[in-house]
Formats: sequence, C-alpha cells, structure tokens
Amino acid sequence: MTQPCSHALFARDVLIGTRWHQNQTLMIENGVIAEIIAGKVDHAEEAQGPVIPGMVNCHSHAFQRGFAGFSEQGSEGQDSFWTWRKIMYKFVDHISPEQARVIARQLYIEMLKAGYTRVAEFHYLHHDPEGNCYPQLSTMARAIFQAAGDAGIGITLLPVLYRFSGFGPLPPTHGQRRFINSVEQFNQLVSDCFDYAKSIENANVGIAPHSLRAVDLESLHDVVNHVKRLDAQAPIHIHIAEQMQEVDDCLAHYQKRPVQWLLDNIDVDKHWCLIHATHIDEQELKGIAKCGAIAGICPTTEANLGDGIFPTADFLQAGGQLAIGSDSHISVSATEELKLLEYAQRLQKQQRAVLANAQTASVGLNLWQHSSQGGALATSSNTGEIAVGRQADLLVLDQDKMRLYAGGADYRMDSFIFANASNAVRDVMVNGRWVIHEYQHREQQQSADDFARVLAHLSSEN
Ligand code: ZN
Repeated sequence: MTQPCSHALFARDVLIGTRWHQNQTLMIENGVIAEIIAGKVDHAEEAQGPVIPGMVNCHSHAFQRGFAGFSEQGSEGQDSFWTWRKIMYKFVDHISPEQARVIARQLYIEMLKAGYTRVAEFHYLHHDPEGNCYPQLSTMARAIFQAAGDAGIGITLLPVLYRFSGFGPLPPTHGQRRFINSVEQFNQLVSDCFDYAKSIENANVGIAPHSLRAVDLESLHDVVNHVKRLDAQAPIHIHIAEQMQEVDDCLAHYQKRPVQWLLDNIDVDKHWCLIHATHIDEQELKGIAKCGAIAGICPTTEANLGDGIFPTADFLQAGGQLAIGSDSHISVSATEELKLLEYAQRLQKQQRAVLANAQTASVGLNLWQHSSQGGALATSSNTGEIAVGRQADLLVLDQDKMRLYAGGADYRMDSFIFANASNAVRDVMVNGRWVIHEYQHREQQQSADDFARVLAHLSSEN
C-alpha cells in the first residue's frame, strides 16, 4: 500500500465549513488537511477553480450499472418496482467476479467525474451463478474493493444479509440464490471483509441487513452484535420503506410500519442509515430525526422506480440528517440527485426554494453541505467537509463554466447544481491524490473498452 501524497494546494475560492473563503492554502499530509494557511504558500499548486468538498454516495449496487437504461420499455402501465426487479434478477444470473470488477470500476470512475469521492456499496451479490459459495466467501466483495482501488474512490463496503424472500419468513426464490447467507456464514464474510479492508487504502466496512422482508429480528440482532464487536462505529444500512406493498406487508405481519417496528425493536442510532425511508408517517419521521439515524435518499432511482417522495422538508425541519445515493445508477450525478431532491418538494408543495433555511438562503449550498456531511456520518468516514483534520476529498469546479452563470460566491452552488447543463467538476482529489484531472481519469479508455466487452457478453447470455 502506497502512502497518500502530501502537498500544498492554493485556492482562490474554497468552501471551508459553511463559508466561502478567499486565497487559502490547504496543507495536505498523508491524505489529510493538516493546516489551512491564509495566502499562497511558496510552490503551492493552484486550483483552477472554486474548491468544494467531495460528495459521498451513500447507496450503490454497482452491478446494476450494467443494465441501467435496459428497463425503460413499458407494457401499458403495468410496470413497477417489482417488474424492474425481475429484469435485475435476470441480469445478475451470470456475472462473474472479474465482470463485477469491470462494471464497478467503470461506475466508480463515472462517480468520481460526477463529484462523488466515496461510495457506500450495498453489496449483495455474494455467490457463484449456481448459488454456491466461492471457495473464498469474500470473492465478490474483493472484486468490489479492487474496483474501488482501480478507480481511486474511497469505499465503505456493506455486505448484505439476505435470508428470506418476504415476511413470514418466506423461503428465498431461485432469483435470489446468489444473495443468500446463513447468519454464521454472513458473520464470517463480514470478518473476512474487515481483514481485507485493512490491506487497502481508504476503505472501511459496515453491514447492510437487506430489508425487514429479507431478515428477521433474531438474525438482525446477531449480525449487528457481530459487527459492533469488530468496530463500534461500523455503519449499518437497511432498505426500509421503499414501496407501499412493503409497508402493507410489514403492517400485516408485525402490525407496525417498517420504520416504527425498527425503532421499537433495535437500538437505532447515528451509525444507522435508513435507505428509502420513503413511506413514513409523522411519528416515524420524528423518530428517525430524534435517534440521529441518517435518511439515505436516492432521488433519481426513487423517481425512476416510481417509489414515492420522501418528506425532505419536514425531515430537515425536525432536525433530521440526510445523505444521497445513486442506487440503481440510472443517473450518476451528485448535482442531478440534489436538483431532483429539491424539485420533488417544489412540485409537491407548489413552492420554490423549499430546502433553504434561515441560516443558509442558498438551496444549493444548504443541500451540498447537508448531504456531504450526512454521507460522511453514514459511512463513518473522516470526510464530508473541508476542515483541518479531515481527509482531503475535494472537487475543483470549472471556473469557465461557473463564470457563465454565477453572480458571485452566494450563487455559486446554486449555479453548479441548478443551472449547469454539463458537468462542471473539473478536477477531483481523493485522500490527497488527484484522480480526475481536467475531466479525465487515467484508466478511462481501458475501463470503457472493458465495460463494453463485458456488457456485450452479458447481453448475449440474457
Ligand atoms: Zn438499494
């Protein structure tokens, strides 16, 4: 493992904490911002535009990048999340560890280019195409770690516990054979991932019980206890209330809504991230905000799958903390997620600038800060803002593109998120190392060629 580089980066405009500052030099040592000095330090490299913190992508299923765009052909209004899932299960049938690595590498390069500097990978493709364990349980997980290393993105790997096909519990279906583990096997997999993550840079591990339909209370307790013994700060993510059918099934089985059941039965705290807490009532909303769990929202996927709209404005007003994710990767763009997050509220409330607040009038600035810091919490990573002691995960925006629209620092993040039709992320640094330089990644051509080859092969098998 090589050490992250150390250097000095001068920025004419840099977003430190909640404010724009001018003419600052970030002194970066071993990947961390060691000091921020006013003025330009001799020999400092100069950032070619405004510098902002990188975004954390709190929810990714990397392999789904392989069929993004393949599920948009309708059948007379009969399509839903559940018909999409059938297409996904079919696609997942044949993917090998090498192919998973190629797809994930391509995705992670795209993420870097779009402003994400860390990804939480909700990883459930564990076994071989017959559903048997690989000789090494973590074979598929290692492929994902390696893809993150190839691309240079930070990763929080969340092995997924998937046991059942529905409340009851119902036995898993054939389409789910590659996802299923016993609790013992799963805990072994988690331990293997912890061991492997120690050998690579900028990686950590948590767990993801898939959903309340896929795990029971006893398993949930067992896997949470196991991961807490390995790391008391380990993030724990769960799909919680994406679809109304899921809420209705939970009510029928437990006589409680999913979020309420979770809060009543498990010690949910700030290390939890509730993915797609889309369908919640007022009491559940307050319960999430009170316990400090992060709401992981995936606006473009939730729109694409017809899930519903998370009550973002009410949640923020209640003091809730949120993060954003690209989930199915129908879009890989931090700005597009945030734009849709705001626009869904506008359409619903017939108002404008809904997600601003008294302290921060700029919707763009408010959302970027909330979600980058929420993403850092959701991944237990030392990221999410530019400050002394934080990891140097930075974006340099394109001054030429920004200049077209921005009227000054107060409008900069709004221009970036709402008014830039093309990507304005020019350079990207992760853990003190440049990974995107003038919109380019050093592996991008090789990655794109390999990705096209893998996709052609997988399409011929489906
Ligand atoms: Zn998901």
